[in-house]
Amino acid sequence: MERFGQLLDELEERGGLPREKWLYLLAHPEKPFRELAAEKARTLTLARFREGVYVRGLVEFSNCCANDCFYCGIRRSNPKLERYRLDEEEMLECCEKGYRYGFRTFVFQSGEDPLWGCERLCGLVRRVRERFPDCAVTLSVGELAEEEYKRLYEAGADRYLLRHESADPEHYAMIHPPRQKLATRMACLEALKRIGFQTGCGFMVGTPGQELKHIACDMEFMSRFRPHMIGIGPFIPHRDTPFGKEKCGSGELTLLLLSLCRIMQPEVLLPATTALGTLLPDGREQGVLAGANVIMPDISPAEVRKLYSLYDNKAACDPGTAGILHSDLAKKLEAIGRHVVIGRGDFGERSC
Ligand code: SAH
Repeated sequence: MERFGQLLDELEERGGLPREKWLYLLAHPEKPFRELAAEKARTLTLARFREGVYVRGLVEFSNCCANDCFYCGIRRSNPKLERYRLDEEEMLECCEKGYRYGFRTFVFQSGEDPLWGCERLCGLVRRVRERFPDCAVTLSVGELAEEEYKRLYEAGADRYLLRHESADPEHYAMIHPPRQKLATRMACLEALKRIGFQTGCGFMVGTPGQELKHIACDMEFMSRFRPHMIGIGPFIPHRDTPFGKEKCGSGELTLLLLSLCRIMQPEVLLPATTALGTLLPDGREQGVLAGANVIMPDISPAEVRKLYSLYDNKAACDPGTAGILHSDLAKKLEAIGRHVVIGRGDFGERSC
C-alpha cells in the first residue's frame, strides 16, 4: 500500500510514469488500493471543478458504418442490425429539446456513415452554432482527412472525440481488421489537436487480448499526448460480433483507471461513461466518485436509442422531460454531494 501511495504521488508530480510503475499500479485494482487512488483523484477534482459535473447531450445520429471493428455492434458486417440515420431537421429538434432541458454541449456521434460526409456535417454544425450560440458542438464521427477536420473546425465545431482504442499496434490489430491501422488513428488525433479542437482519446478496458502491458501503453500514450478529454469504459460484448461470447471488462479496473487519469492530468474532462453505467448499477456515480466530472445523457429520439447498439443491454441515461436540473441524474449526483452545471464546460475552465 505504501509503494502504491508513493507511485500515485509520483504520477501527480510528473504527469506520467515509467512502464514498470504503471504495471504495479494497474496490478492493484482491489478496493483498498482503488479507494486510495479515488480519494486523491476526488481531492484533485474538487480543487479544480468544485462539486460541479458537466453534462453533454449525446445525439447518436446514424448507426450506418463502413468500418468493421470486431468489438462493435454497429460494424458493417452485422447484418442483423436495423440501420437508421437522422436528418438535419431531426437533429436540430434533438438540440432544441436538449437546450430546453439545460444542455449547453451537443455531442454528435455516429458510425462512419458515407452519406453523412464532411460537407453535410459542416452545414449541420453551422446551423447548430447559429441557432444555439451559447452551446459547444462536439463531433465523434471517426477518421477523416485532416482537410475535412479543418473544415469542420472552421464551420464551428469545438471538440472531437476519437478514442485511440489501443496504443499498442499488436493489440490494436487484434481488435480491428487489417485495413484499420493504428497509425491512421494516431495521425487523426495529432491532426485534430493541431487544428485546435479540444481533443478526446480513450479506450475500452478488457477488450479480448488486452493485457496490463497494453493498458500501460495507453497510459504512456496519453501522458505524452495530453488530450483534453479521455473516454474510458469497460468492454461489453455484443452478441452479433466476433467478440459476442467474450467476457465483460472489469469495472474495478475501469474505476482505478479513471482515478489514475485524473491524478495524471487534473484538468482533463473525464466522463463517467454509459458503458460503466451499463456494467455497474451505480456505475456513473461510482465513476464520479473515482474522479470523473462529465456525464453524457442520451438525447437521441427514443425510437433510435436501442438501434445505436454498440454492445448488449446499453443502459439508458435519459435526461427526463423536466430538465436536467430536476432529472433522476441530478438527484443521484446530489446524493453524492455533486450537482449538474449548466454551461459549455470547456477544457481549461477553472471551476463551476
Ligand atoms: N465511429 C465513431 C464512434 C464510435 S462508437 C468513432 O470511430 O470514433 C464510440 C465508442 O464506443 C468507440 O470508440 C468504442 O471505444 C466504444 N465501443 C464500441 N463497442 C463497444 C463495446 N462492445 N463495449 C464497450 N464500448 C464499445
